[in-house]
Amino acid sequence: MAKQMTKCLVVGAGPVGALAALYAAKRGWDVEVYDLRGDLRDDSTTPLNFTKSINLALSERGINSMRQSGADGLLETVLSETIAMYGRMIHGEDSKGSLTEESQLYDVHGRYQRAVDRGALNKVLLDQLEGLPNVKLLFHHKLTGADFRKKKAWFERRTASEKSNERPQELEVSFDLMLGCDGAHSGVRYHMMKAVRMDYEQSYIDTLWCEFTIPPWSSETATGRTPSAKDRFRTSPNHLHIWPGSDKMFIGIPSTDRTFTCTLFAPSATFADLEKNPEQVDSFFRTNFPGAAELVGPDLRRQFEQNPHLPLINIKCSPHHYASSGVILGDAAHAMVPFYGQGMNAGLEDVRVLFEHFDSHPTTETGQQAALESYNRERVPDAHMINDLAMGNYWEMHAGVRSRWYLLRKRIEEFLSDKVPSSGFETQYSRVSFSNQRYSEVAKAVESQGKVLARGLVGSALLPLAVYLAWWTVRRQRGGQGAPLRTAFESIQSMLMRLVGR
Ligand code: FAD
Repeated sequence: MAKQMTKCLVVGAGPVGALAALYAAKRGWDVEVYDLRGDLRDDSTTPLNFTKSINLALSERGINSMRQSGADGLLETVLSETIAMYGRMIHGEDSKGSLTEESQLYDVHGRYQRAVDRGALNKVLLDQLEGLPNVKLLFHHKLTGADFRKKKAWFERRTASEKSNERPQELEVSFDLMLGCDGAHSGVRYHMMKAVRMDYEQSYIDTLWCEFTIPPWSSETATGRTPSAKDRFRTSPNHLHIWPGSDKMFIGIPSTDRTFTCTLFAPSATFADLEKNPEQVDSFFRTNFPGAAELVGPDLRRQFEQNPHLPLINIKCSPHHYASSGVILGDAAHAMVPFYGQGMNAGLEDVRVLFEHFDSHPTTETGQQAALESYNRERVPDAHMINDLAMGNYWEMHAGVRSRWYLLRKRIEEFLSDKVPSSGFETQYSRVSFSNQRYSEVAKAVESQGKVLARGLVGSALLPLAVYLAWWTVRRQRGGQGAPLRTAFESIQSMLMRLVGR
């Protein structure tokens, strides 16, 4: 009889590893989860990014993957700790120097993003694993080696209390399947590369990020009035706030403790200037992000100086697996820039898709290899596509949100999606964030939608243009002055804007 798959090692107890372990455990496999860090639920454990938290946008793909896990109460618990963000709030300044705010809803059908604390989400997943008899959680265990042919892995065990100059304990562990969920700097991927001809591409973009916090209003206002829970947020809690800039931006995501977790994204040279001249941090914010310095408060400079300035990495690789014995998921397989809010969502979706492939194959070694091969064929193109879309969305967030043509296209697509559902039109953002359509299919659908729109726009522009040119020619013949062609295009553009309800 063919050998049945029984022992599954999950390396990495981040959101992706913890969900993958839940899926494996629900299938009755023996699961061991290893993480080099301590248990997140223990307050003394240093978070991954060395700051208090990362607040993330959780959307349909992540939610659906948790829903499909079959874990009782998991989704309800996670969602109860989220805040709905219905759109972006674009902050700026008008010509008189007054602060402006413009709400841009994410979706014409009212679908929304949810702000979630990554650590809180991770803890809920670990709590679910804790109670399962076929799961062992092993913290302070660092993967140091793996042989995917012999199906053996090596770990170093060192707890925080053990002296750093003591030799760590070494462990050899056998496995049938290893799920590598150990993040962007994955050791599993590194060891897998020795066994498989893996194409690998890594790039850093010239943007660094630093976290800031906008505190809540205190429970007593200056007038002695006690504000309601919602009033304690310093700005709208139901938006993702963006202060756009040409090559930089500042964003804020609400947290359940009434703070906003904010991120400054800027070129490395800007960071270097501010590091040399920290006394300029305040004026830098006042010049580039009107109103943001006041919201963060007097602590702005200290936060810039104390919080780490971190890089953004982009990783693509292929294949994501070795034969029947190993597969990489989440950031280990496709770390991406965070501008589409999809890194974790895509990683959680990897888990759902992977187990769909396992479920449609026998749990024998050959069945498992076939499952990994078909998973790889499906998932690699999707992973590459979301990496590209995330890179492209940087433009949308820091410049597109103020571009008239971007807004025009968004409005036409939303108008058609709402009023003519049979057209099948949807914005790229809605397809990525509020559906489970494969990323590669999203890109194809958006491209063909773009062609239809371009043809429609050219067609609808030609008629008024022809009328205008006829009028202009007649006017010139009568000796009057025709307006420049640019004005003609502007009037057509504004007519189209009115047409789609701006
Ligand atoms: P990780 O969270 O990196 O977890 C990896 C785990 O593996 C860690 O616990 C680590 O300790 C462990 N590990 C590493 N090496 C070893 C080893 N050798 N042995 C044992 N264990 C090991 N995503 C979204 O979906 N929405 C967002 O809005 C969003 N915003 C973001 C904003 C910023 C600024 C950044 C930087 C990222 C953002 N992301 C977002 C991306 C998201 O944070 C990641 O995609 C997600 O955390 C990846 O999860 P993971 O479980 O794959 O890896």
